[in-house]
Amino acid sequence: MTAFGLIDSHCHLDPANFAEGADLVLERARQGGVSGFVCIGVGGLAAAEHACDLARSRNDVVATVGVHPHDASQHTEVLQGELEKLAREQRVVAIGEIGLDYHYDHSPRVQQQEVFRRYIQLAKSLSKPIVVHTRSAPADTLDILEVEGARDVGGVIHCFSEDLTFARRALNLNFVLSFSGIATFKRAEAIQEVARWVPADSYLIETDSPYLAPVPKRGKKNEPAFLVHTAQHIAQLRGEPLEEVAAKTSENARRLFRWH
Ligand SMILES: [Zn+2]
Ligand SMILES: [Zn+2]
Repeated sequence: MTAFGLIDSHCHLDPANFAEGADLVLERARQGGVSGFVCIGVGGLAAAEHACDLARSRNDVVATVGVHPHDASQHTEVLQGELEKLAREQRVVAIGEIGLDYHYDHSPRVQQQEVFRRYIQLAKSLSKPIVVHTRSAPADTLDILEVEGARDVGGVIHCFSEDLTFARRALNLNFVLSFSGIATFKRAEAIQEVARWVPADSYLIETDSPYLAPVPKRGKKNEPAFLVHTAQHIAQLRGEPLEEVAAKTSENARRLFRWH
């Protein structure tokens, strides 16, 4: 496979996910046409530091730091202080993933909302965009983004799995959508409808490695090298050549994350 210049806008590469080490994983992806990686630093300070480390010493990696809604109940002021320090680094391009997950409810909803609000404010104070995780919480997610003024910095609704109504509101709030392997699943008609509809300058693609491997790798541990399958599927849905999807999504990612 030759270089398409795809950007994986969302991957988790910490040792808990890839015991072999991130560099082997990154190298396989480069061979598969991926030329940029947004490494998500959530799951505690060690994971955030790991993402930042990867980004500091590799030109094709940038990082984000944040508190996943699953971890909201463990959030502390001390952690926030440490994450803020990391968030100021130049190669930390966004705050996230943050948001709401009412499907798993690993943390009480009020705590999820509180942490989500806090980190939107942090993103605004640093003028960095936001990576949003939302599951089974569409109304509250959009309300909080609106009330907290997230449009000032914008961001991405990662692993987009909502419908057209949500998509329109997200775009109005200055957010773009990122499609993951879910968009390749048979039952994902609502997401596929959005992928056909979304304006070319308003979407990204991602693997969300190690989760949610795209067809035909479904069920395997996902890794950034599989991004091309999602890109191909989106290209098919949109009736565009793969090169067009690669070029637009990479351009969009670089613009959103001010990554040049
Ligand atoms: Zn997520
Ligand atoms: Zn994620």
